[in-house]
Amino acid sequence: MACCDEPQLIPVRDAIARMQVAVQSVSDTETVALPDLLDRITAEPVRAGFNVPGYDNSAMDGYALRADDAGQPLIVVGQSLAGHRFEGELQPGQCVRIMTGATIPAGADAVVMQENTKVNGDSIKVLKSPSAGENIRRAGEDISKGQEVFPAGYRFGPIDLALLASLGLAEATVQRRLKVAVLSTGDELTPPGQPLKDGHIYDSNRYGIIAILQRLNVDVLDLGLIPDQPDAIRAALERAGSEADAVVSSGGVSVGDADYVKDILGELGEIGFWKVAIKPGKPFAFGHLGRAVFFGLPGNPVSSMVTLHQLALPILRTMAGEAPEPPLQITAKATSGYKKRPGRQDFQRATLRCVDGENQVGSNGAQGSGVLTSFLGANAYTVLEAERGKVEAGEFVTVIPFDRFIT
Ligand code: AMP
Ligand code: MG
Repeated sequence: MACCDEPQLIPVRDAIARMQVAVQSVSDTETVALPDLLDRITAEPVRAGFNVPGYDNSAMDGYALRADDAGQPLIVVGQSLAGHRFEGELQPGQCVRIMTGATIPAGADAVVMQENTKVNGDSIKVLKSPSAGENIRRAGEDISKGQEVFPAGYRFGPIDLALLASLGLAEATVQRRLKVAVLSTGDELTPPGQPLKDGHIYDSNRYGIIAILQRLNVDVLDLGLIPDQPDAIRAALERAGSEADAVVSSGGVSVGDADYVKDILGELGEIGFWKVAIKPGKPFAFGHLGRAVFFGLPGNPVSSMVTLHQLALPILRTMAGEAPEPPLQITAKATSGYKKRPGRQDFQRATLRCVDGENQVGSNGAQGSGVLTSFLGANAYTVLEAERGKVEAGEFVTVIPFDRFIT
């Protein structure tokens, strides 16, 4: 391939495929109460125990009638309110006052909306005749009894909790939460809130990593800031490997003199690979540490966020028992040009807009792997394929809108 200055780099797609087959999903399950089910993942399909709606009911405020009768004045013989049905059976020439959601009385086959009637004492005149079945929500038209509503491996969102409630379900069987250990490495790092020593920078990665993992709804074991000392790194990785399902570290996986993480991973566990054709973020280590899966993110702040999001997150979601859809990809017109050499798949932070019906994407400023502000106000990645060279403004490019895990 003409694309690669560094042929040993693994293409992003291959790296993800290799990691997916090298991990296992959690197998323990638990029963969790409805209010606590947000972002939990189903361990088995959820089925409806009854029809939804449970009975034929009115979609409108109006009058329930026989559609064939609508040409004549109709006597109002009673009412059917939500929660209080009309007990009788409708006879020819009769109608029943009915409210949205109320049971359709026996004998009626349509509802005329109130606005299309004229009331005259005890009877009504229908101004616009409904056809048979009109304005009736049929029993089971939304969900039929026994139907699978949620598959296994499904992450519950807010509306899903309402849907579960509508099925009368007060709990669900879900996968146990994944436990993920997080650590930063680097002698130059100072925790925020403390004075910065000469030549130091603040440890920013750990806060972004933990926040992303919290959105994923995993249990985070924060192992803190570890100096670039082999013994300290060894102790942290040993603990992480024995206590967690997965470990996410930042820094120390490149080829510098103080980059011990990868070597210690090789010593305590095994390195699957550690170079991916992704920009930002080429040094990304994947491996195993005891029973835990290890993700070694690069230290550069943008690289660490992009590799966590694009490489580690899909695998963590699989491990958590989720079966997510691949991310949405759209095509948009580039409003700015991009300098690029073939070789790595590039995830540029970008602003996606729809202008007069056309998707347009612009670069979100300087794209260095340390420029964390490139994420500020960005809502998408412009994804430049590995083999692609420079892009001129006006060309079409692939865009992945951000999901809720990254912004
Ligand atoms: P490394 O991957 O350890 O070689 O680090 C690459 C660059 O990222 C260096 O400039 C580090 O100072 C910086 N860096 C490493 N870890 C962090 C961190 N936790 N927060 C912010 N910057 C970091
Ligand atoms: Mg370092």
